Amino acid sequence: MPGDIRLDGTPQTASHAPLVDRFGREIRYLRLSVTDRCDLRCVYCMAERPDFLPKSRLLTLEELSAIGAHFIARGVNKIRITGGEPLVRRDVIHLIEALGKHIGYGLDELTLTTNATQLAGQAGRLARAGVKRINVSLDTLNPDAYARLTRGGQLATCLAGIEAARKAGIAIKINAVALKGENEDGLPDLIAWAHAQGFDATLIEVMPLGEVAQDRADQFLPLSAVRDRLSEQWTLTDLPDRTGGPSRYVRVAETGGRLGFITPLTSNFCAGCNRVRLTCTGELYTCLGHEGAIDLKTAYRERGTAGLEACLDRAMATKPERHDFDVSRGAAPAVSRNMARTGG
Ligand code: SAM
Ligand code: SF4
Repeated sequence: MPGDIRLDGTPQTASHAPLVDRFGREIRYLRLSVTDRCDLRCVYCMAERPDFLPKSRLLTLEELSAIGAHFIARGVNKIRITGGEPLVRRDVIHLIEALGKHIGYGLDELTLTTNATQLAGQAGRLARAGVKRINVSLDTLNPDAYARLTRGGQLATCLAGIEAARKAGIAIKINAVALKGENEDGLPDLIAWAHAQGFDATLIEVMPLGEVAQDRADQFLPLSAVRDRLSEQWTLTDLPDRTGGPSRYVRVAETGGRLGFITPLTSNFCAGCNRVRLTCTGELYTCLGHEGAIDLKTAYRERGTAGLEACLDRAMATKPERHDFDVSRGAAPAVSRNMARTGG
């Protein structure tokens, strides 16, 4: 551990200049991946038998905490813990508790994206650590379709996790990837269920990240078509709400709930991008859709705060203007790594 960062994660010599890229975008949001491993194998996310990284390559929880603190000192006010499945990393709660101590001291929000399989046992501690909102990935309410899409997951486990989080007082947003011919017919039920529970729901277009078993063209369902279909049964009213991310929201009059659309393919949102991603092995990605990462782990281990500062300067100088996803038949993935490797 370099000498100029304390184990409690407090950087001693960070510059406090905000992170602004060459297109004037201010970076306030860090997605921090703690593992590439997962207990599910969603068909759009990873291969059936993925090659997970050796654990020896991971940043330690202390390093993740210290690096997170450094980002906060540079103006990041929102951190989302992700993976892989973040809750399968042993003792990850210690990291979440350490980062939670920054809430109100530079950090406005600490959140988590999870498949909810481990939530039943962890929701209470997450809430006590300061996690007030989480995103839960749930693509269908049909148990057979859930088992098929996750390659073996049990819907009941996910629902029990969601219930535990709700009881712990954590606000929940349900995220569903829209998949052609798979979950499209069940999306209205999923949205209506989420809204009846008082949850927001967001639909996401599948992105061509990494090789999966299917051609992406066979998975891709444009959300413009989904919205048209939903409009046949519901009244959707555009909302001005922005939650710091790429979602565009509507109010569904019949359910009273809020529905988000994340459309990386049909409507590019990169102009407002405010985020960077750090993988569990310490690679800093400034765009989900580009190869080329900055080796923050080596810089940090060799040079401490000075190494981190150099990485952040480089990140701001090289963050691409936009992604160029292509899901036409036969197109190569935009990047070779899947979402679980980068940190979703
Ligand atoms: N395991 C956690 C989960 O599923 O919520 C966190 C990591 S997962 C990679 C984060 C999000 O990425 C999930 O909502 C998942 O549905 C989404 N995702 C994974 N692969 C994707 C892809 N190719 N296109 C769009 N979304 C994807
Ligand atoms: Fe696991 Fe999340 Fe990827 Fe599904 S989307 S395989 S739950 S990392």
